Amino acid sequence: MQKSIYFNEEHDMLRTLIRKFVEAKVVPNGHVWESEGMTPRSVLKQMGKLGLLGLRYPEKYGGANLDTLATVVLAEELGRSTFGGFAITVLVHTDMASPHLVNAGNKYQLERYMPGIITGDLITAVAVTEPDAGSDVAGIRTRATKDGDHWVLNGSKMYITNGVHADLYFVAAKTDRGAKGSPGITMFLLEKGTPGFIVGRALEKMGWHSSDTAELAFDNCRVPEENVLDEIGRGFYAIMNNFQNERIVLGAQALGEAQKALELTLNYVKQREAFGGVLWAKQAIRQRLSQRLAEVEAGRQLTYHAAWLDAQGMDCVKEVSMVKAYCGELVNKVLYDCQQFHGGFGYIRESAIERMVRDARIQAIGGGATEIMLEEIAKRV
Ligand SMILES: Cc1cc2nc3c(=O)[nH]c(=O)nc-3n(C[C@H](O)[C@H](O)[C@H](O)COP(=O)(O)OP(=O)(O)OC[C@H]3O[C@@H](n4cnc5c(N)ncnc54)[C@H](O)[C@@H]3O)c2cc1C
Repeated sequence: MQKSIYFNEEHDMLRTLIRKFVEAKVVPNGHVWESEGMTPRSVLKQMGKLGLLGLRYPEKYGGANLDTLATVVLAEELGRSTFGGFAITVLVHTDMASPHLVNAGNKYQLERYMPGIITGDLITAVAVTEPDAGSDVAGIRTRATKDGDHWVLNGSKMYITNGVHADLYFVAAKTDRGAKGSPGITMFLLEKGTPGFIVGRALEKMGWHSSDTAELAFDNCRVPEENVLDEIGRGFYAIMNNFQNERIVLGAQALGEAQKALELTLNYVKQREAFGGVLWAKQAIRQRLSQRLAEVEAGRQLTYHAAWLDAQGMDCVKEVSMVKAYCGELVNKVLYDCQQFHGGFGYIRESAIERMVRDARIQAIGGGATEIMLEEIAKRV
């Protein structure tokens, strides 16, 4: 384990705990979860028991009250598992969906849902993307209209991680379609089983097979007023705010994947023989891998720095956008080379690298595509 100025003893202990959990519980079983199309709920409960689902959440609900760097440790170590689908199942719950509640929930909502989120008894999902609006969040069409003490939701959502298996959904809907200068979006807490809430089929994907991804629909779905999150019309700002954490986490996950892929490839090329020596003896191979090692190290320092800025409460939208843009592309570049140097074996389903190549592709698209991140940087320079 490398030393870093950004991490203290508590972070290091956390890293050791997660690494042990991943080696004992994830690596031997991940193949089964891949074929089943989901990570079992029992795995999240085990992580809940270890205190891994509430790293940043208040102690009064069972959380550990740690900082953004602890989240980076979690995401990096889950990325190292080589099962991106498992990693994203957990990270959507801990760092993309449930933060909406912690940041904006009222006392009633926090007390009702937080304990279950932290133990893993209540799985969460966040539903923003729609068939006609992904990068352009302001363009969503799901609408909510007031009817007495309820809001009535109509519309649909697309590509929702944990969509099939979640218990609680954070749903973005338009509450004021005429609002000038504001997208008029509000976030709603929606429990599975609410009449009019339809969970569609699990979508088949290129990668992330151990994560379930679903389409959702709302057909006159009645949500009680007490399930409005924050104030009416504040949802767009909440989504943009939460995107910062989401993007640090996705960057750290990508880095964990890239680091592990390089380790696997170094082991492989140091053993595999061709033309009278091991592959590592070929200058072209060891130089390319050294170049990628340097790039991953640069990505790590950028990610740690952005997380540190975030932990200090400083404005870091530019740095976070850099993390997402850089790491999302880098993991793909690294995996391309790792697969290349594994030769035919890297194309075979039983090699971890083959799965990691497929899992990596979404990192440049989901949670803010590279082009969107570059626009965020451009606006600030
Ligand atoms: C496996 C998976 C899991 C997901 N999980 C969730 C989830 O849990 N919750 C959720 O809400 N969403 C989720 N998403 C949605 C994901 O965040 C979106 O797919 C992503 O934001 C891109 O939106 P889009 O697919 O509508 O692409 P579009 O917005 O249609 O963009 C298509 C492409 O065009 C380019 N592009 C777009 N805008 C610009 C621009 N302004 N300038 C230059 N190029 C541009 C980008 O390359 C982009 O990839 C998930 C998606 C997948 C595939």
